[in-house]
Amino acid sequence: MPSIFTKIINGEIPCYKIAEDDDNFAFLDINPNAKGHTLCVPKKEVDKIMDLDEEAYMNLMAFSRKVGKAIEATVPCERVGLSVIGLEVPHVHVHLIPLHSMKNATFQYKESMGPEEFEATAEKIRNYLK
Ligand code: 5GP
Repeated sequence: MPSIFTKIINGEIPCYKIAEDDDNFAFLDINPNAKGHTLCVPKKEVDKIMDLDEEAYMNLMAFSRKVGKAIEATVPCERVGLSVIGLEVPHVHVHLIPLHSMKNATFQYKESMGPEEFEATAEKIRNYLK
C-alpha cells in the first residue's frame, strides 16, 4: 500500500506544497514543531534513510538545503534545524524545523496553526524559491 506521503505527492491527499523537483517533494508538516516546519520527501518510496542509495541521499540533502535556506530567509527563527526520525511514517523524510529554542527540536511541543496561516507560510517560502 502506498505511504501517506506517496498519496500526498500524487495529489490524492491535500498538502501545503512548498516545492518539488524530479526526485523530491516538500510540504508543510501538518502537526508542526514550529511555524514553517517542512518535510522533504524523495518521490521514490523507501522506508529508512540509510537505505537510500548515495545518489538519492545526496540529492535529497541538496534539495533540503535549498528549501531550508528559503525557510531561514522567510520564517522568523534563530536557525533551521534538520532531523530525520521516521518512526511514524515509513517513507524517508527530512524535517526542516525553524528553531526558536530547544523545545522546537523535541517533537513534544507542537504549534497550533489554522489553514490561512499554513497557506500564508507556504506561500512566503514558495515565493522565495521562485
Ligand atoms: P516521523 O515519521 O518522522 O516520526 O514523523 C512524521 C511526520 O509527518 C510528523 O511530524 C507528522 O506531523 C507528519 N505527518 C503525518 N501525516 C501527515 C499528513 O497527512 N500530512 C502532513 N503534511 N504531515 C503529516
